[in-house]
Amino acid sequence: MAVEKTFSIIKPDAVGKNLIGKILQKFEDNDLQIVASKMIHMSKEKAEGFYGIHKDKPFFANLIEFITSGPVIVQVLQGENAIMKNREIMGATNPDDAKEGTIRKSFASSIDENAVHGSDAPETAAVEIAYFFNNDEICERTR
Ligand code: ATP
Ligand code: MG
Repeated sequence: MAVEKTFSIIKPDAVGKNLIGKILQKFEDNDLQIVASKMIHMSKEKAEGFYGIHKDKPFFANLIEFITSGPVIVQVLQGENAIMKNREIMGATNPDDAKEGTIRKSFASSIDENAVHGSDAPETAAVEIAYFFNNDEICERTR
């Protein structure tokens, strides 16, 4: 296994429910380090670019409305096998299918409002990190 970086979003539903701390705790408890983090309120254009892969899906308009409905926390997580590890910590896209103890099982209310996003592969992680962060916003852990 290798040390990887992955991109993560705490979505508007979870920010609105004051769950930022509890979600970040799950990452840290699983040996993922936060190496970049900020709160943003995505514009429609920014959100459409981010979710471009889903633009032909029936849920696209709803997805854009949701992700722009309030501020989000975007972060870069770093650790051994970080991409797949974060997907496991998040749980299945639909919280009804998510395993006990996952973020989506604990905090998500529906497939539409599912608390978190996480990159699904090394290629998407690199693209998504660069879509939200400049290189100088990502901090090397020196201790
Ligand atoms: P994310 O990309 O947000 O981490 P994911 O990789 O688990 O989630 P994707 O298939 O990439 O799931 O879908 C992106 C988002 O689109 C999901 O998080 C969810 O909010 C929404 N979505 C996906 N499938 C559906 C669906 N069938 N109905 C409604 N919304 C959906
Ligand atoms: Mg996805």
